[in-house]
Amino acid sequence: LVARMREFGTTVFAEMTALAVRTSSINLGQGFPDTDGPPAMLERAVAAIRDGLNQYPPGPGVPELRQAVAEHRKQHYGLDYDPDGEILVTVGATEALAASVLALCEPGDEVIVFEPYYDSYAAAISLAGAVRRPVTLRPVDGRFTFDPAELRAAVGPRTRAILVNSPHNPTGTVFTYDELAAIAAVVQEHDLVAVTDEVYEHLTYDGVEHIPLATLPGMRERTVMISSAGKTFSVTGWKTGWICAPRALVTAAQTVKQFLTFTSGAPWQLAVAHALREELPWVGGLRDELAGKRDRLMAGLTAAGFAVYRPAGTYFVQTDIRPLGFTDGLELARRLPELAGVVAIPTQVFYDRRELGRHFVRFAFCKKDEIIDEAVARLARLH
Ligand code: PMP
Ligand code: GLN
Repeated sequence: LVARMREFGTTVFAEMTALAVRTSSINLGQGFPDTDGPPAMLERAVAAIRDGLNQYPPGPGVPELRQAVAEHRKQHYGLDYDPDGEILVTVGATEALAASVLALCEPGDEVIVFEPYYDSYAAAISLAGAVRRPVTLRPVDGRFTFDPAELRAAVGPRTRAILVNSPHNPTGTVFTYDELAAIAAVVQEHDLVAVTDEVYEHLTYDGVEHIPLATLPGMRERTVMISSAGKTFSVTGWKTGWICAPRALVTAAQTVKQFLTFTSGAPWQLAVAHALREELPWVGGLRDELAGKRDRLMAGLTAAGFAVYRPAGTYFVQTDIRPLGFTDGLELARRLPELAGVVAIPTQVFYDRRELGRHFVRFAFCKKDEIIDEAVARLARLH
């Protein structure tokens, strides 16, 4: 294995899911729902396969999906993207992120990431031979946020891009307009490109609405906006994502994507096109359900003795384990199956400066109510 990839062993998600399977524990680690997406969308994928749409689709994605993404962007955010040249379908947000970073960064360039960051960011940056510069999200009055001065201080002469994930995994923070404006100011002052990971765009709660960075003044031209179907339509296994960006940036990402995967799975693309057009009411229902599950899990974790941060979006509750007398989240996550029959994600693995996240553990609530109830009943044994 090349030196620049040596720090990346098995992803924490694979490790923890394998641990859950091996120990028959409840898996509140890896974030995937345990119920299916809208039936008509599933039927579309089956029909696409039956109808013989089983060969290579066009490299940029099937026209129906690019058109549906363009309409969705316009309707929800007032953003105009030309389906012909400004939208690229990818193998999930993961490939979109990797292709974007590989297309943008020369070896030695720097990329700013908010830590804790989704694990694939660090790997994509290393694949490009680039260097990550973390800016830490810290809890202030129960909500994770950043210090704009720390963000400014992270910019140097080699900074090329900033990765922005909102709604944020794992903290559940949904960036406010003011936070996004602080990011936009830095991007514009230093002539950076923003790569935004908006896979939880529809999963926000308590009336909080997701604001895409590209909607801020001057930002559409500098933003590679990424999302995917996995979370919005409960099909994390379909790995269908997309990039919306100005033509030159999409062309750059597509040049890389051609040689990573060439194209993305055909039947899912047609089904997701249908979903973006017809199934947003279903997503509204999912969002209400998830808000209830969040409350259920938070109440249970609080009763079990965790200090709990209330997420405004995503599938996840970030907790502090210190009130239970534990100090190291990785150690606890590895012992949790034996202690309680539950699996969770130690947030410290998403930090460059692990000590800043040592005492955090993330639990997923995208699970059936009875699963959440059983998990919190088991976790109550911890104290
Ligand atoms: N970004 C974040 C923040 C995520 O939580 C995930 C996991 N779904 C991804 C990207 C990857 O998305 P996809 O499955 O569409 O590749
Ligand atoms: N995005 C999901 C999470 O954060 C799962 C990602 C994965 O398995 N790679 O839990």
